[in-house]
Amino acid sequence: MRFIILIICLLLPLQSAFAAVDIALRGEDPVRLEDVYQQDGVPSIAIEDAIDAVGLTGHWNSISHTFRIKTKYGWAEISPASEYLKIADEYYPLEHNPRFIDGRLRVTDSFILNQLAQLAGRSIYFRNIDPDADIAPEKKPNVLEKLFAFLLNKKISKSGPLIRAVAIDPGHGGLDTGVISTSGYKEKHLNLEIAKKLAKQLKMKLGIPIYLSRDGDYELTMEQRLEPATKDDVDIWLLLHAQVAFSPEFSGVTLYVRPDEVATDAHSGGDVETVASDSMLLAQELRTALLDSAIAVRGIYQSSRLSLGRGSLPTVQIELGFLSNPEELQKLQDPEYQLLMVQALYTGIRQYAKQSKEKTDGNN
Ligand SMILES: [Zn+2]
Repeated sequence: MRFIILIICLLLPLQSAFAAVDIALRGEDPVRLEDVYQQDGVPSIAIEDAIDAVGLTGHWNSISHTFRIKTKYGWAEISPASEYLKIADEYYPLEHNPRFIDGRLRVTDSFILNQLAQLAGRSIYFRNIDPDADIAPEKKPNVLEKLFAFLLNKKISKSGPLIRAVAIDPGHGGLDTGVISTSGYKEKHLNLEIAKKLAKQLKMKLGIPIYLSRDGDYELTMEQRLEPATKDDVDIWLLLHAQVAFSPEFSGVTLYVRPDEVATDAHSGGDVETVASDSMLLAQELRTALLDSAIAVRGIYQSSRLSLGRGSLPTVQIELGFLSNPEELQKLQDPEYQLLMVQALYTGIRQYAKQSKEKTDGNN
């Protein structure tokens, strides 16, 4: 008997390794899901659990080999073989493939925050209880882990000019087009256009080096993508992307920061005071500057998306807008609007630099 208890005690810590998420439609009580796998900070949640938590229904169709979700737009389908979500005859790209793990089809937080929120017709509250827990069926050594370690160990300059250099990653490139508008306009082109213009502004006005992960239309390895961010003098890392939604109404800029860096929750009534991370401060300054330029901002969200990496380097992923919104699509392609956007981003960066300078000077 004692022997059995001993074995149970030895097994317990393994069994109860902690990965859990809270999900709810914004404003409702969250449901805690504990059948969650997690690798490299990306949680994989069973699709049935996720749709149930946001009041949708669906089922696995073993003939078409797809999981079908009932929505107001019709049946939405995902499948383990595909990188797309299908509604009617339209395909929408997903950041991560749905995968079968432990007998259940699973999606990541990116699916829940983006596609599922749109299917549910409301924004979704999502919290990863422990983004650092790694619970995956097979753990293989990961090149990315090593690269992210660079970011983790980065020393941020606390003397001299507040921003020494900026790294910008224009998402996608080459065969990897990113999202595409119905008219055929590709995200990869927008990302590069904005990145080049922003780099020019920053170089001109701040006189500091700007490192782009790509300066043309070609594909990058993950190493190449991360390389600029690992340079010694880089104090800010910006990742540029754009989105599509099934509903043409969605528009505006969305800002993402790492989940371990969340600041005060505007919905909590300000009871809890949390010190905002540098990434969050940067995101807040970007939001203010964009709003001042009359560019709509949907919000600042914490996300464990892999692209953001880990660590302390102030990093913001900027979703520049929705290529699925005809009006916004037109604006995003307009050089004047691009310049407005770039100037706002520059102002946000400059304000952030000023603010951290004051903070640092105050400490000395
Ligand atoms: Zn993208």
